Amino acid sequence: MAERGTLIDGAVLAAKVTAEVSEQVRALVARGITPGLTVVLVGDDPASAVYVGSKERTCIELGMRGETIRRPASITQSELLDIVDRLNADPAVHGILVQMPLPKHIDAEAVVRRIRPDKDVDGFHPVNVGKLWIGDSDGFAPCTPAGVLYMLRASDVRTSGAECVIVGRSNIVGKPMAGLMVQAGVDATVTVCHSRTRDLAAHTSRADILIVAAGRARMITADMVKPGAVVIDVGMNRIPDATKKSGSRLVGDVDFDSVRPIASRITPVPGGVGRMTIAMLMANTARAAAQLGA
Ligand code: NDP
Repeated sequence: MAERGTLIDGAVLAAKVTAEVSEQVRALVARGITPGLTVVLVGDDPASAVYVGSKERTCIELGMRGETIRRPASITQSELLDIVDRLNADPAVHGILVQMPLPKHIDAEAVVRRIRPDKDVDGFHPVNVGKLWIGDSDGFAPCTPAGVLYMLRASDVRTSGAECVIVGRSNIVGKPMAGLMVQAGVDATVTVCHSRTRDLAAHTSRADILIVAAGRARMITADMVKPGAVVIDVGMNRIPDATKKSGSRLVGDVDFDSVRPIASRITPVPGGVGRMTIAMLMANTARAAAQLGA
């Protein structure tokens, strides 16, 4: 049994994933396959530009081909679909990611559905959503929940038979997280909570594993957590902080200072789940290349 409040360090675990991916890339390159990820960035959202920049950089650091296609927010739906079609047909592109959010006039669902499922390394295409729930291992799970599962496994958290409570039911985090935790081999008993859940604390306080992805700063307080629980905080919220130069700081959905002494293990924000997401994207891209090149 871990001591109370042990940190699950996202930076250490993300480095472990990227070291594993780097080995896979070396083996693929030796077979004449250089894994390639192309990100399509539409518009000039500054946060998206930062994410996309670090995706491209990480690809290149790992010996993969990283490319970003930038288009103005005025792009039409058919122009964007044409880009996806071209990438679908390009044998040098193994992973395609269209950065969200897209401008309002674009039907984001239609764009995601146009990506070839075997190049959909974000794991949002309905075929991959279905494969995740079926337990078909050649599909791609979305990177954030896949990163959370990796963290639990790498930290030797016992999932079999555990009560896993997830707060949040988005298609990006909460729902795929539930799909992963309920699979045979993980074997958790899963409860998914959302904004209409009656008595949230009654659910969270019986969780052996509590995964929070609600986007509400510090909403999970100590009284909502079972002593000894493993607490995974996916939330990333910017709150005002006059002591910081930027005037703000990043906090999770968990009130870290009060919950840490109660939890057995806990992820910090920043430095927790957020560090895993790009690493898992790299892992998905390397696997896409291996599967497409086989
Ligand atoms: P969404 O806004 O899409 O979903 C939030 C979910 O939380 C919804 O299902 C909502 O319920 C539920 N919720 C909101 N308020 C409450 C409440 N008071 N009680 C119970 N449930 C509630 O967010 P995302 O899933 O995209 O992201 C969640 C958080 O995770 C955000 O802070 C985001 O920034 C962060 N994130 C972090 C990533 C990382 O790499 N670390 C990656 C992706 C997201 P309902 O459906 O009823 O509205």
